[in-house]
Amino acid sequence: MKQFVVIGLGRFGSSVARTLYKLGYDVLGIDINEEIVQSLADSITHAVQADATDENTLKALGVRNFDVGIVSIGDDIQSSILVTLILKEMGIKYVIAKAQNDLHGKVLYKIGADRVVFPERDMGVRVAHNLVASNILDYIELSPDFSIVELEAFPEWYDKTLGELKMRKNYGLNVMAIKRGEDVIVSPGADDFIKKGDILVVVGQNKDIEKLEKLV
Ligand code: ATP
Repeated sequence: MKQFVVIGLGRFGSSVARTLYKLGYDVLGIDINEEIVQSLADSITHAVQADATDENTLKALGVRNFDVGIVSIGDDIQSSILVTLILKEMGIKYVIAKAQNDLHGKVLYKIGADRVVFPERDMGVRVAHNLVASNILDYIELSPDFSIVELEAFPEWYDKTLGELKMRKNYGLNVMAIKRGEDVIVSPGADDFIKKGDILVVVGQNKDIEKLEKLV
């Protein structure tokens, strides 16, 4: 089973750490602040007070044996960069780092982060799309051109098949899944029907998704 080390247990880091632990994974949390460490002691596998910029401390904690490292130090950009670099140099396969801004993100990628997240920016995008189009339930930007969107089916789509609706041709959308109550139809085909209350998970170009938002 995968083991996770979360460095920096602020709002973002502690939320990632608690969730992974609830999902049944082993989670080591490290933070420089003793109070924060105490407050998480019962919510994750191990919570340790340490300065993660100290390579020897990380070695002593056996951090190199973890499969995934999550660096969620935000304000102190220098420490975030240093810790990401140390984790990659130790050989951790997958390191995710949280960035404050684009430049910080670029540096994190350059020094070897496998994935960089911008929680505030990404959440802002998702909330904004949900506000302008109430049938857009979730919005994940894949790149500046493409996104994945979770949307409620439009009434004019009910009881029609994906083939009849020509989703790709008419809307530029690829339907990846249809959620119907508890059921999920993965990779639906041209013969699959859309029913009232269905939620579609689609991938498409942002310009096509924007057109969809204007239909609401
Ligand atoms: P969030 O938005 O997730 O609350 P933030 O972006 O405001 O966080 P910070 O508060 O700067 O980020 O950092 C998150 C956590 O990282 C804090 O709890 C802080 O104590 C911890 N931290 C900062 N530097 C280090 C370090 N060198 N080693 C370990 N933990 C650190």
